[in-house]
Amino acid sequence: MSTPIKPMVAGNWKMNGLKAGQAELHKMLAGISDDLADCVDVMICPPATLIASFSEKVTGNVMAIGAQDCHAAASGAHTGDLSAGMIADAGAKAVIVGHSERRTDHGETDADVNAKAQAAWSAGLVAIICVGETEAERKAGEAVAVVERQLAGSVPDGATAQNTVIAYEPVWAIGTGLTPTAGDVAEMHEAMRVDLAKRLGAEGSAMRLLYGGSVKPGNAAELMAVDNVDGALVGGGSLKADDFLGILAAY
Ligand code: PGA
Repeated sequence: MSTPIKPMVAGNWKMNGLKAGQAELHKMLAGISDDLADCVDVMICPPATLIASFSEKVTGNVMAIGAQDCHAAASGAHTGDLSAGMIADAGAKAVIVGHSERRTDHGETDADVNAKAQAAWSAGLVAIICVGETEAERKAGEAVAVVERQLAGSVPDGATAQNTVIAYEPVWAIGTGLTPTAGDVAEMHEAMRVDLAKRLGAEGSAMRLLYGGSVKPGNAAELMAVDNVDGALVGGGSLKADDFLGILAAY
């Protein structure tokens, strides 16, 4: 029998948060009981400017701090970029790679994302690899094919359940208040599970598959209960402690 997968709920603050944001972090930390932390891995990915100070605030296993992106190179002439090693040095335990906003705003390809994931592993970070179809691709009936293509290109060989988390984030659901039906989420996560298990064997079967896109306190329980959904990647719903704790209440 396979061991049950411990879910993860990760908050992606995107380009939001100043030093004053520590007040929300403190409220979150105060609201996460040891029992909750035992059954779900909680993470906040603040802007890079806050990684070091937030990392100093989280103790024990209540919460980990992650980053939102890294460069694929270990060091060098890349003005304004951050290496995975720098992020790890600041205290992060994971890094989101291939978020659709980076794919769109910065033209990141599957090959770029693949290289970033490997850079993350080299620095000892977990890579949270994002995939997801656009509205046009879903309307054209291509959602599964698009996501399978992204997984094939973005997830490096050598991915394990320990070093990699997959986040399925339909682009049209991000920040829009729209979510797929539970049935559509089930179909996508089943397809990803089958695909990853075929390629990575037991590691693919045990890998965490997060759902992301307009997760809120009001829909978290339903979405998190879907087969093969092992947690959530949360944007707007992770900025305020009350909302984030409301989402965590699904566990
Ligand atoms: P959202 O963003 O929860 O605000 O829709 C999710 C994400 O982009 O990770």
